[in-house]
Amino acid sequence: MGKVFAFFEAKENELKKVSREVAYVADQLGDEIIGLMINASDSVVSAASQLGASRVVNLTLPEGCLYSSEAIVSALVRLADEEKPDYIVFGQTPIGRDISARLASVLGVGYLNDVINLRKEDGSFVFEKPLYAGKIIGVFSFSSPAPSVLTVRPNIFPVKQTEDRGARIDRAEIDTSLARAFVREILKKKEGMLDLKEADIVISGGRGLGEAKNFELLFDFAKSIGAAVGASRAVVDAGWIDHSHQVGQTGKTVNPSLYIACGISGAIQHLVGMRTSKCIVAVNNNPNAPIFKVADYGIVGDLFEVIPLLKEEILKLKSKA
Ligand SMILES: Cc1cc2nc3c(=O)[nH]c(=O)nc-3n(C[C@H](O)[C@H](O)[C@H](O)COP(=O)(O)OP(=O)(O)OC[C@H]3O[C@@H](n4cnc5c(N)ncnc54)[C@H](O)[C@@H]3O)c2cc1C
Repeated sequence: MGKVFAFFEAKENELKKVSREVAYVADQLGDEIIGLMINASDSVVSAASQLGASRVVNLTLPEGCLYSSEAIVSALVRLADEEKPDYIVFGQTPIGRDISARLASVLGVGYLNDVINLRKEDGSFVFEKPLYAGKIIGVFSFSSPAPSVLTVRPNIFPVKQTEDRGARIDRAEIDTSLARAFVREILKKKEGMLDLKEADIVISGGRGLGEAKNFELLFDFAKSIGAAVGASRAVVDAGWIDHSHQVGQTGKTVNPSLYIACGISGAIQHLVGMRTSKCIVAVNNNPNAPIFKVADYGIVGDLFEVIPLLKEEILKLKSKA
């Protein structure tokens, strides 16, 4: 067992759930974890230091620079040269994907993204990831020299339970002087929206909603039970909802505990983005809709009648819990 870098992310001063999953995977891969964070607050670094790491390095960007993959990667390369980790683990998030691929390329080492499982075979780790829109699962091992760089799909692995190994906390400034581009400002789109990829419940709508304004039904349902709203490409293409909500091959991949598909037929390009959800409920008025083949529970009916009833029943259950 060796050394593992675990890249932890935070949002709005809270450690992201995927960071705990990254910590879990790092713990499987090695016995010495070094947590890496970018511009994290003291409270987030403190939370990260409770994930079994022996050291947490908080890399800070100079004022005026909110993000620069180029500069961050240069800093990580230097840390990797010093510490010589065997693995570097990221979440399969926009930032994780951005940094990990560039880092593996600069280091000239093996890279595997979107890992959903790992195990030991003959003393070495093998990793599984979905291929061809989830139709098959590929089994991979690294043959390149260390470190091996990988990203793990969110909501698949268990979260690492709190474990205090007395992590040393270090802070190092990232040198951005050679960065050719960096982010100066981040403009928020909508307040209070749950992140589709991190939500525990996703309610998605498709062409069965009939028209754009009927998405209000789903937003209202989602708000009342703390869910995020997803969509099929058909309705995104029709301009009913923004592309940031699209689930599927050309949208986002989600793995919530509960995925409720409303008026979505279940085309393969949609399924690839949600079929690993833990429980799938489909509402469709066509009993032969392909979505029912992947659904754990299928409701054949008009979504305009079913959704209000579902909402009522879920709220009743929640009030009793
Ligand atoms: C390269 C490529 C990439 C793609 N990427 C994506 C992607 O990322 N994500 C994605 O979703 N699609 C993607 N698509 C499109 C995909 O093939 C489908 O066209 C799309 O998913 C269909 O969307 P839909 O299910 O909303 O619409 P439809 O297929 O039209 O289905 C609507 C469903 O609603 C049901 N319905 C109608 N009225 C009601 C009602 N009142 N109550 C209940 N049910 C009702 C119907 O029975 C039907 O099953 C991609 C296609 C291509 C070629």
